[in-house]
Amino acid sequence: MVKVLIYAAQQEGKLDSNAIEALSFGARLAEATSIEMEALLVGTGAKEGSKEAISYGAQQVYTIENPLLDDYQTELYSYAITTAFQQSEADTFILPFDKKGKDLLGRIATRVSAAAITEVVDFRSEADEINWIRPIYGDKAYGEYKANRKKVVVGLRPKSCEKIVADENRTGTITAIDCELSEEMVVTKLVEKIESSLSGIRLEDARVIVSGGRGLGSSEAFGELQELADVLKGAVGASRAACDAGWVPSQYQVGQTGAVVAPDLYIAIGISGASQHLSGITNAKTVVAINNDAEAPIFKRANLGIVADYKTVIPALTEALRQKIG
Ligand SMILES: Cc1cc2nc3c(=O)[nH]c(=O)nc-3n(C[C@H](O)[C@H](O)[C@H](O)COP(=O)(O)OP(=O)(O)OC[C@H]3O[C@@H](n4cnc5c(N)ncnc54)[C@H](O)[C@@H]3O)c2cc1C
Repeated sequence: MVKVLIYAAQQEGKLDSNAIEALSFGARLAEATSIEMEALLVGTGAKEGSKEAISYGAQQVYTIENPLLDDYQTELYSYAITTAFQQSEADTFILPFDKKGKDLLGRIATRVSAAAITEVVDFRSEADEINWIRPIYGDKAYGEYKANRKKVVVGLRPKSCEKIVADENRTGTITAIDCELSEEMVVTKLVEKIESSLSGIRLEDARVIVSGGRGLGSSEAFGELQELADVLKGAVGASRAACDAGWVPSQYQVGQTGAVVAPDLYIAIGISGASQHLSGITNAKTVVAINNDAEAPIFKRANLGIVADYKTVIPALTEALRQKIG
């Protein structure tokens, strides 16, 4: 039986959103092929979280319940995950290609001499042969990749897979893996945790995002965007140019090297629509662009567009929406 192992991050026995997406992707894969889906959970609460992984279709869950894995640490995670991957006998290992996934993927693939395929958004299967599909040329096209090694490590782009519905009646086996970890294995130590000053809805979870670019011209203008976002109960995002200018913190950045988002509504204001920005909003449902240049590439991606100076549009739009939705 060919097996696929999914890494499912958990905190206090609860799976995170990217873990549920990765399991949903694995469940689709298992449905389309005769591949068996397994999951791996690590840290305190792993056993408790296993039940949720089973409800998303994992037939076998491996756990490594070790408090050294409660906080993310590169060397310990690489070692623990590699151990589990080897013991599971799965040929394919899928992990969300989020910040931790980007740090881990190459390390794990190297340790087990596997092929590594990043930013995967879909697959195509014939019998049990799988081609992995990922965007190329800054999301302008898609490429299909086949691994020429027996083992493959796949990084799933966040927000690229619809979550399936959990079914509490699903059953599966839970197996604890013996994996010796020690503090001595740690090469880079976490010395201090600094709480982010950002509050409000996380960009990745927001249903509405009001995003600003270089065209806004100042940090003050982001205050106006915040007002609009508050009315729409959304979050504020930004292009890299706006972050680089210091108008908003880098955590606001949307795009290839920022957050990958999938809101119902994305309002891009004073953003030209560079491919690196657009690759962060591939799965946004409705995109509204406000830009004073009718030729700006963002209008090709937008579902609705307003060609105007944002200064004339935003206050009026905010006021009109406030009247309408309070
Ligand atoms: C490796 C790499 C990774 C990158 N990653 C990212 C990423 O993750 N995210 C990202 O955003 N970028 C990223 N970039 C940068 C990207 O290429 C663009 O440079 C950037 O997105 C441009 O930001 P912008 O649209 O705000 O600015 P610009 O391209 O300068 O566009 C500003 C827009 O504002 C409009 N405008 C000006 N004045 C007004 C006004 N008064 N009212 C309305 N509209 C106005 C202009 O017409 C223009 O279209 C990356 C680049 C590289 C090389």
